[in-house]
Amino acid sequence: MFAALDRLPALGPVTGEPTFSVYNPSTGALLAELPDMGVAHTRAAIEKAHAAQAEWAALTARDRSDVLWRWHQLIVNHTDDLAAILTAEMGKPLAEAKSEVSHAAAYLQWYAEEANRIYGETISAPSTDRRMLVIKQPIGVVGTITPWNFPASMVARKISPALAAGCAIVLKPAEQTPLVAGAMFALAEVAGFPDGVINLVYASEGADVGLELCTHPMVRKISFTGSTEVGRLLMRQCSDQVKKLALELGGNAPFIVFDDADIDAAVDGAIQAKFRNGGQTCVSANRLYIQSGVHDEFAEKFVERVRQLSVGDGFDPGVAIGPLIDTRALAKIEAHIADALEKGGTIRCGGERIVADGTFFAPTVLTDITSTMRVAQEETFGPLAAIIHFEDAEQVVREANDTIYGLAAYFYASNLKRVWRVAEALEYGMVGINTGRMSSEAAPFGGIKQSGIGREGSRHGLEDYLEMKYLCMGGI
Ligand code: NAP
Repeated sequence: MFAALDRLPALGPVTGEPTFSVYNPSTGALLAELPDMGVAHTRAAIEKAHAAQAEWAALTARDRSDVLWRWHQLIVNHTDDLAAILTAEMGKPLAEAKSEVSHAAAYLQWYAEEANRIYGETISAPSTDRRMLVIKQPIGVVGTITPWNFPASMVARKISPALAAGCAIVLKPAEQTPLVAGAMFALAEVAGFPDGVINLVYASEGADVGLELCTHPMVRKISFTGSTEVGRLLMRQCSDQVKKLALELGGNAPFIVFDDADIDAAVDGAIQAKFRNGGQTCVSANRLYIQSGVHDEFAEKFVERVRQLSVGDGFDPGVAIGPLIDTRALAKIEAHIADALEKGGTIRCGGERIVADGTFFAPTVLTDITSTMRVAQEETFGPLAAIIHFEDAEQVVREANDTIYGLAAYFYASNLKRVWRVAEALEYGMVGINTGRMSSEAAPFGGIKQSGIGREGSRHGLEDYLEMKYLCMGGI
């Protein structure tokens, strides 16, 4: 692991600058000291990106695509090192870290291909002496801010469509997980991005850097993944300049199992949708609604599987769940459990911290949950599954939709008519039907309501970084 970290370039602070520390959440060990770049560095990075923008946009799509392809290949070739860095700074099991790096590489590959497929349109003009058409152009400099829970794939998912479209970018990764982003940027340099096209700002405080990105007139778009609270703030900060925004925010995903579902498949899906990344994903199943006819069977089988999930350092073989990112995350789970127990919930397994150096929490299942409990209303963001009993389909869809969020929902059923009706009625940007996992570079990822604006991945993700320009030629 540390051999991988040692090979990272530019990890040491520049002498005399303020620094911040990055720790391993499994052990508490110090991993690196990074320069704490504030507003002045951010401004310089924006200006550099602005200076590089026009030349990058003027390249042929094929030339931009070639650089993205080289970056993709370098990331694939360095998967083991990148995954080791990721596990060290974030804690997730090494196998999940490798899968995340592959997912990151897949976005680069996808947008290396999509770069070649930017199309305009011609329009039948209403008079014979005119020609009307639409061309697509890159939006300009994009400020991007990423969270700690997927520190490699969020970087790739966010910046690869922007780069493919011809935008230059400035990235601020999360304070807790800047190292894998640093390593990816080092590989990008090798891939041959022209100077200034991609710029990294390490910072211990998102607020100052975020404000600079939102208010600097050379930044034309902000692309943010993180909490809804910070998303709202960025939106306010962008409003004076009517700056464009892409927001991938929080969720409160329902996971519904109907009486006619394949229960074993539903249990598998729930384990994935709830416990991947220790429950620290924006699409984590947060409320498990189980219909009365299968409730007891599902709960029994699910609890049995959860008891088998081993918790520990992500580098240890066989570990399924790593540490939580910090002690605040532990406190939030404890608060959700305490609130549920006070209001009549039952603990079926887990329920407490695991005493160790890191921030570990035992995978937990609660039953007898009701919609008034905090665990059903807020994103828990940890290894806590809350099971709610329901009777009829209309009621469960109403309850599932009764939230300010609209990112991901899941349901298991076999009746075709029900499958269509429920899929259409759920007010979410993404619906997993008989699957607990749906993220893919080929699909549009994103939410409705207060879960966000815009889509990442697929051909739609590229459109978010292109402006439409209408050309009208007269006197023909
Ligand atoms: P967060 O606190 O909002 O932080 C996300 C990023 O924003 C970090 O880089 C953070 O920097 C920065 N930040 C914090 N305050 C800021 C401010 N005032 N101005 C500008 N930037 C600021 O979220 P998190 O706890 O890291 O991530 C978890 C959340 O992200 C969950 O709600 C989850 O659902 C959501 N998420 C959504 C998606 C999606 O695709 N929809 C994907 C992953 C995660 P510092 O770390 O330096 O403070």
